[in-house]
Amino acid sequence: MYMTTAEIREKYLQFFQSKGHLRLPSFSVIPQDDPSLLFINAGMTPLKPYFLGKTPIFHTPEGEKISYRVTTCQKCVRTGDIENVGRTNRHQTVFEMLGNFSFGDYFKKEAILWAWEFLTDKRWLGLEPERIYVTIYEEDDEAFEYWTQDVGLPPERLHRFGADENFWPADAPSKGPNGPCGPCSEIYYDRGPEFGADTWADYYQTRESNRFVEIWNLVFPQYDRKDGGILEPLPKPNIDTGMGLARVAMVLQGVTDFYETDEFKPIIAKVVELSGVSYEGPSSLAHRVISEHARAVSFILSDGATFSNTGRGYVVRRLLRRAVRYGYLLGLREPFMHRLAAVVAEVMGGVYPELRENLESVQKQIRLEEERFFETLEQGVERLDALLSGLEPGDTLSGEEAFRLYDTYGFPLDLTLEIADERGIKVDTEGFQKALEEAQELARQRAAFDKDVFKRPNEALLAIARDSGGTVFVGYERTEETAQVK
Ligand code: ATP
Ligand code: MG
Ligand code: MG
Ligand code: MG
Repeated sequence: MYMTTAEIREKYLQFFQSKGHLRLPSFSVIPQDDPSLLFINAGMTPLKPYFLGKTPIFHTPEGEKISYRVTTCQKCVRTGDIENVGRTNRHQTVFEMLGNFSFGDYFKKEAILWAWEFLTDKRWLGLEPERIYVTIYEEDDEAFEYWTQDVGLPPERLHRFGADENFWPADAPSKGPNGPCGPCSEIYYDRGPEFGADTWADYYQTRESNRFVEIWNLVFPQYDRKDGGILEPLPKPNIDTGMGLARVAMVLQGVTDFYETDEFKPIIAKVVELSGVSYEGPSSLAHRVISEHARAVSFILSDGATFSNTGRGYVVRRLLRRAVRYGYLLGLREPFMHRLAAVVAEVMGGVYPELRENLESVQKQIRLEEERFFETLEQGVERLDALLSGLEPGDTLSGEEAFRLYDTYGFPLDLTLEIADERGIKVDTEGFQKALEEAQELARQRAAFDKDVFKRPNEALLAIARDSGGTVFVGYERTEETAQVK
């Protein structure tokens, strides 16, 4: 059944409201009081204190409310997925994650039964039950029972994975940071053989599929991880779920990827209009990257980040530059990203008013940044020109030179290859790759990963304890962290 993105978003929130959840607007993508994170990367991250025992008091238009059940559509940023954008059909750098959360209230059974109801009931999404597949943690017999007995899912449509896939956070209960953690259960949708000839068994062998799409992750934080990987059951376990809105939209709209969904098409259309290059053939990667990054840049700047060379500002700068480079490949020679920001605000400003409210200043910032980067690109073209004029057709430009262009002028290899090719000159791409890897290795050593939401659990705990006078750890009072605070 076709459903617009807006309808899916609204249905999800209404469904969980009907199950007693307080509906909250998205939090900013910029974490508040959480120095361990560069960006909010999941629906649960802004709610982390409540999983750790802080009383869930929320400011709503009707005044302060306490609620142990909450539902949100959260804007998330995953910088780790930047390289995936445009290449896989399911990764965005900024995406909306629908979620329902229980702070020591309901638990696994309700979470599983409600997920099933929302997905399959005709009043809600009405997905075909036979196309739904599920993974659970290998030791989670409870989840197995609920799925097979209470839901009635045939066991052959279920698979038990180890902790590397189905335990969260971290890839093994014994590793990973201390604090709340637990098994998870992921829900997949079979888009059918027209999307790939692979089977469910192939998927869980290879863990790659275009046909079976991961749409929803139900996490069961039921343990408190202690030093040495000891998992102590929490007296009050929590629920944390995350559903990718764009992924569900692509399933319900029957399209190959989320770029063809209703909320993305207008941005792609604008790229086509501005560049005069149609959205098909090899250049479509450029359209995808540009439109996704335009959205990402708009969301991040409208929440108050600014371009810079460190932290968040550097991420948003990288996104903008990557988009501009692809624009250059499409023949664009004038700033264009600020114009796409207007389309983003138009399409999504109803749900995220900050996109409209801050549009003018966001556009100004983008335009300035684009102008500077275009200048740098032009300098790169001149430099390349000089390099190439010293070579003859049939010669090869060295990998180090190509990398220097990339590194200094942000000049992409594709562009170097294209310009060199026009003169019959080859480029040592292996040498480029080698130089790039060396540089990446250096950067990796410096970079902060945003994947790990409990990266500095002690600090997070201490901050919460400070906020609340050190007395909020109902059920957690025996943890070492609290002991230290007290
Ligand atoms: P994947 O394996 O596809 O990278 P994930 O396991 O990293 O996804 P989770 O951390 O489980 O994702 O996040 C919960 C849900 O959010 C996923 O089931 C998916 O629907 C959605 N999601 C995750 N990453 C992205 C992304 N980069 N773009 C769009 N949706 C995403
Ligand atoms: Mg991922
Ligand atoms: Mg996954
Ligand atoms: Mg997942």
